[in-house]
Amino acid sequence: MIVATKKPIEEILVALAPYESVLILGCGTCVTVCNVGGEREVSLLHSALRVAIANSLMQQKRFHEYTVKRQCDREFLEALKGKSEEVDAILSLACGVGVQVLADYFSDIPCIPAVNTVFMGSSSTFGIWDERCAGCGECRLYETAGICPVTRCNKGILNGPCGGAKNGRCEANKEMDCAWLLIYERLLKLDQLDRMRKYSPPRNYGNLKRPKRVIIT
Ligand code: SF4
Ligand code: SF4
Repeated sequence: MIVATKKPIEEILVALAPYESVLILGCGTCVTVCNVGGEREVSLLHSALRVAIANSLMQQKRFHEYTVKRQCDREFLEALKGKSEEVDAILSLACGVGVQVLADYFSDIPCIPAVNTVFMGSSSTFGIWDERCAGCGECRLYETAGICPVTRCNKGILNGPCGGAKNGRCEANKEMDCAWLLIYERLLKLDQLDRMRKYSPPRNYGNLKRPKRVIIT
């Protein structure tokens, strides 16, 4: 899933300064799961904004709340048609994909992000999210026992380990386990240690075109 973090309220207030009527729009999928952009967070942000602008020149602002199932899917944005006519701007709590789909859909209304999109990942412990996939387009998890070296090795090396790990921790980020030691241990468990000797060729970044496009028929 896509993981995001809340933007500082001061940054949001600067972006909202020119607008009088603002729709605070949540997204009911990834950002709801990571507790930054669902219905509850829309309500909390609304309250925080009200408190922040009390006794200021901005106190006349009007806020509206709504949450759609997914902002990255145009079919769920249709429900906003009536609401969007009442507002000067939309403050979106969706990931960067959701904000862009929203801005395309309502191209005559400014769409402002209220969160920072950080990575695709998962949570193994309550409240802690870790990056797990960079969408590299050439998945090699089969060769690395289901552990991604592109995201989990600090150097992103495809033929590890680099040799710098100490006590199982990465030399470049001591808070993280060495991805290549994890790969080694998992391969050992799977009786596939021979894969450690297999050379993984470098990616040809020259072939990588941005933005990427996938056509599924
Ligand atoms: S190798 Fe890693 S970054 Fe690439 S697609 Fe697979 S999980 Fe994602
Ligand atoms: S210590 Fe492990 S995770 Fe860190 S850079 Fe070296 S191989 Fe990658």
